[in-house]
Amino acid sequence: MNPSEADQRRAKVLAAAIDQRLLDVDDSPVAAFLDWQQVADNLQHLHRAFPADIPVLHAFAAKANSMVGVLERLRRLGMGAEVASDGELRAALEAGHTPERMVFDSPAKSRRELQHALTLGIAINVDNFQEFARVAELRRAAPSVSPVGFRLNPQVGAGSISAMSTASAHSKFGVPLADPGMRERLIQAYLDHPWLNRAHVHVGSQGCPLPLIGQGIGVLVDFADEVNARAGRAQIDTLDIGGGLPVDFDTDQPIAHFDDYVAALREAAPRLFCGDYALVTEFGRSILAKQGWIAAYVEYTKEVGGRRIAITHAGAQVATRTVFMPDAWPLRIATFDASGAPKPARPAAVQDVAGPCCFAGDLVAQGRELPLLEPGDLIALLDTGAYYFSTPFHYNALPLPAVHGVEFDPATGLPGFDTLRAAEIDDLVHDRA
Ligand SMILES: *Cc1c(COP(=O)(O)O)cnc(C)c1O
Repeated sequence: MNPSEADQRRAKVLAAAIDQRLLDVDDSPVAAFLDWQQVADNLQHLHRAFPADIPVLHAFAAKANSMVGVLERLRRLGMGAEVASDGELRAALEAGHTPERMVFDSPAKSRRELQHALTLGIAINVDNFQEFARVAELRRAAPSVSPVGFRLNPQVGAGSISAMSTASAHSKFGVPLADPGMRERLIQAYLDHPWLNRAHVHVGSQGCPLPLIGQGIGVLVDFADEVNARAGRAQIDTLDIGGGLPVDFDTDQPIAHFDDYVAALREAAPRLFCGDYALVTEFGRSILAKQGWIAAYVEYTKEVGGRRIAITHAGAQVATRTVFMPDAWPLRIATFDASGAPKPARPAAVQDVAGPCCFAGDLVAQGRELPLLEPGDLIALLDTGAYYFSTPFHYNALPLPAVHGVEFDPATGLPGFDTLRAAEIDDLVHDRA
């Protein structure tokens, strides 16, 4: 079997990275790559999928990848930023995002964070009535241009990964719209506070099917229509429909299903696109997951109890979710030899692929049939551009690996690199100095 086009593209990146010592068995045994061409292609599909005659702000969910260089590139590609902590907020500002193209979410916004967002004029999605009381108080103390709305929990049910589902009956997020008396209480809050001009839902991440997302957004539109009807004017002028478009972790297709998403919304919530509302989206995973990957050297291999194990330099520190929830977050693994060339399919073996962390569960794949791995080979953990290398786990004081943006030169077909994050080793030991 010939290596796929995608493997050949990755092989070119690996060969160049080895050549430039961005990957080195001893000095940098793990590194991550983000393919900018694929990101740009994906974003073109995103922008085209939505109707051109409706104002839409696509605010990238910074938690999916909050590196400043990434947020900066996404800004230049036309995205805003959705932030959910002071750290993400600072990263977005440093990346040049402007307050009117940002959204502040978080279920635990502190008074200081709220004040900061209100001072800058960043839109706020209020999670609950206690937070709302704070926002109202802060606004009385100092005027603010921040658009403000409530996050609704449409309580339409959970997807296939319960930890990722935010619209279940008992989710910690938002105001539970279907609970007794809640809808009326919320509508009254809008009627009493004319500055409440937005509303928001985010039904969940990976594992929520499009009809479920559509249903939740349908609840949002109905709510906004009802508020506006009772207010007798277009009080709510912007709907923030969240993110959560699932990506497929099984193929090399880098373009997310934005067209299917919009089609599902037209079906489930036709009034969303009627022109009464400007829109905000908050996609994260579907923007970057498929465009990034992690490469790591195989340090050793062994046979244990009849099982073959490859011990590599990528484990829980860069693939935390996969290691702790392997059934919910399986990753494809591509294999390469020490020169970066794709490994031939044979000989193959059923193998465990382990990481460097000192706990037994540090496995990124178990019982997986793969080309037989040898010391000095490279593995690639695919579809890890969001929530993986950018969201590390400091176990064993393992450093964050370097992250490199990749750009192919159209003339030579060869990849060039821009370092988005250097490997972290020096910082790691500062607090002990
Ligand atoms: C996590 C999150 C997102 C992004 O979800 P993806 O699945 O990465 O698209 C958007 N909005 C909110 C409020 C979130 O918590």
